Amino acid sequence: MSRRDELAAGLAATRTRIAAAEAAAGRAPGSVALVVVTKFFPASDVRLLADLGVTDVGENRHQEAEAKAAECADLDLTWHFIGGLQTNKAAAVARYAGVVESVDRAELIPRLARGAAEAGRDLAVLLQVSLEPGADGRSGAAPADLARLAETATDAGLDVRGLMAVAPLGEAPDRAFARLAEIQSTFLLGHPDASVLSAGMSADLEQAISAGATHVRVGSAILGSRSSVK
Ligand SMILES: *Cc1c(COP(=O)(O)O)cnc(C)c1O
Repeated sequence: MSRRDELAAGLAATRTRIAAAEAAAGRAPGSVALVVVTKFFPASDVRLLADLGVTDVGENRHQEAEAKAAECADLDLTWHFIGGLQTNKAAAVARYAGVVESVDRAELIPRLARGAAEAGRDLAVLLQVSLEPGADGRSGAAPADLARLAETATDAGLDVRGLMAVAPLGEAPDRAFARLAEIQSTFLLGHPDASVLSAGMSADLEQAISAGATHVRVGSAILGSRSSVK
């Protein structure tokens, strides 16, 4: 099978899973957007995916993302930065990312805003919330900090679209995503337009969609196992 056929098959299977989960949750067909996570895989795969109709790709490491975005600059793709973001890399990420999904602390915000302004671009952001009990801020903001972060980001000129989360290892994803749905409903009281919910990956996209995810981030189910590429 050609690489193109492999990717096409992975995409078709994933789109079928998303459609089934939408139906099971009583959600409208097509209401859940797919971000294909291309980390570890080459720009040639990104190019094939774009040709297969993918519009949104996710990356979690700045150097790799920056290089691939440059190699694929002729394609009309939106790059989602989904990884832990070092403060000193934030401005650089804002120059190519369309959406930074991993905003989890205030110190990133002025740097993201500066990078976007310097590049003359609008930057959408999601606030990453930790679903770990006793969040220590390493894998997302504590739920109690979201409202303040959203205000800081909006004041800095960033477009706050909603929330992002990863289900913690060692807990059933449906329980973690049920907590996320509660966190989101509180957050939406203050920010009713910031209704994006990015949750769900290859292993748990059904549970995430059932809990209200509007965006899923899927890598290995489409591109294959990352352990085979280095
Ligand atoms: C790698 C990654 C994904 C995709 O994970 P898969 O299990 O390969 O689908 C999604 N979200 C984040 C934050 C990631 O780092």
